Amino acid sequence: MERKIRMNKRKRIALIAHDRRKQDLVEWVQFNKGTLSEHELFATGTTGSLIEQSTGLKVTKFKSGPLGGDQQIGAMISEGEIDILIFFWDPLEPLAHDVDIKALLRIATVYNIPVAITRSTADFLISSPLFKTEYERIQPDYESELKEKIMRIVQQRSEAH
Ligand code: PGA
Repeated sequence: MERKIRMNKRKRIALIAHDRRKQDLVEWVQFNKGTLSEHELFATGTTGSLIEQSTGLKVTKFKSGPLGGDQQIGAMISEGEIDILIFFWDPLEPLAHDVDIKALLRIATVYNIPVAITRSTADFLISSPLFKTEYERIQPDYESELKEKIMRIVQQRSEAH
């Protein structure tokens, strides 16, 4: 079974960049400032501060990534509170919070939200007509799956006793 989750015209966009990719992300945000100003922006601590200072856009900031910011954004995705993830991660350096990075990319996949991990993908994403319109993303109906699973476990337990 599947569910359709509606995204509004005004998207809630999470922005994250590792240190060696922050310049790239700041340039991308500067270039797309007009479009992004019509949406709601969220970011990990350092990335968010840099974006605010360099563009004047308002950003809701979480903790810095290594201090739990990636996990906070992942939690918001699982609650249906983030529509799009722009995540310029560093492919050349292992980082202390590698497991958090993997977890964030995993949870974004679980909930089928659009994710850009390269600047070119971010360009394609922001140029899509869907960026400014309502959109229904499809995701498996995890709640029904969970209910069925619990019922199966309860039944197996009652059969065993
Ligand atoms: P930062 O976090 O924006 O606070 O640098 C990003 C990250 O390292 O995940």
